[in-house]
Amino acid sequence: MIPYGKHSIFEEDIQAVSDVLENGFLTQGEQVPLFENALCEYTGASFAVACNSGTSGLHIACLAAGVEASDVVWTVPNSFAASANCARYCGAEVDFVDIDPVSRNICVNALIDKLHLAAAEKRIPKVLIVVHFAGSSCDMAAISAVTEPYGIVLIEDAAHALGANDALGNRVGACKYSAMTVMSFHPVKSITSAEGGAVMTNDDEYAESARRYASHGITRDPQLFDATHHNEPWFYAQIELGYNYRLSDVHAVLGRSQLRRLDTFVQARRALAKAYDDALQSLPVKRPLLDMDSAWHLYTIELTEHDRTTVFTALRERGIGVNVHYIPIHLHPYYQQLGFKAGQFPHAEHYYNNAITLPLFPALTADNQQEVIRQLKEVLV
Ligand SMILES: *Cc1c(COP(=O)(O)O)cnc(C)c1O
Repeated sequence: MIPYGKHSIFEEDIQAVSDVLENGFLTQGEQVPLFENALCEYTGASFAVACNSGTSGLHIACLAAGVEASDVVWTVPNSFAASANCARYCGAEVDFVDIDPVSRNICVNALIDKLHLAAAEKRIPKVLIVVHFAGSSCDMAAISAVTEPYGIVLIEDAAHALGANDALGNRVGACKYSAMTVMSFHPVKSITSAEGGAVMTNDDEYAESARRYASHGITRDPQLFDATHHNEPWFYAQIELGYNYRLSDVHAVLGRSQLRRLDTFVQARRALAKAYDDALQSLPVKRPLLDMDSAWHLYTIELTEHDRTTVFTALRERGIGVNVHYIPIHLHPYYQQLGFKAGQFPHAEHYYNNAITLPLFPALTADNQQEVIRQLKEVLV
């Protein structure tokens, strides 16, 4: 079976990890700050807070933004559940903005309309989490222009988009238009640390706060607590309820080693996306926008004339490990129990009903890609 996504591990990665295992600290050593610095250097952001998954990164980003049970957080339905769950962890109410059927990212006009309604009801969200679906950047300049007058904190879920640029040439993760950007280093993503994530920001207070929440809410900064009775040299203080979301040094060194290959990985993904785009022109499918600034985490087509289940099953039987991204978040039973209904976000639902993700990862060979294309053509006759 040709999988839909797969990590690429090189000898240097293995060497780097065994070096830490043999000689270094396994956790809380020098590898995490080194990885964080490398992420800042790559993206251009001032601060990185490494954590043990993209999901924990989203959670501490929400906490750093001050999300509480009385707040509302908006995101998009066309994403992995973590984009919404992070707000629920804080007790906040979640709502969704439908996607644009062409970009499959948040629809800016739908956002504008929904904000007008929310303003009338005095229920403006504290945070908007946008998702760079499949690795293609949202129009961050437009989105921030719309949300800024309301004082909404913008968080980018860039789990798909490390290595991408926006249309203006800004690197995803630079946080030019957002408060924080969250990365994931799960094995199917742009680079991997096995499990891992990071919160990027240019704001030192967000960085400090996110870092505290990732480590029990504990600080040693005497300015943050009443130090008058606590000048003992061992003293530290837990000033809020945090978590253990720290990344280990073993994971961090793998992430930093992988980061050196990020541009090569993304170039390979872009070339494969271009090859799919050329090869699928004549087929009855809707292709994704050919965004050459995208990190191309996923290549997803929409069937226009065929039944998705039939095509999906036939491709799997032919050894093509197709997948589907995403079941709209509001259709999951957990969110249905919160009151969401089918039909509420028609573009995300229509997209989902016809979508198939084709194999795309840096090590996919031209021969394997030709095999995917050949099988797809046969199934779609
Ligand atoms: C992978 C992913 C996450 C979660 O990342 P983990 O590192 O697996 O926790 C969040 N959002 C999106 C859009 C993702 O694809």
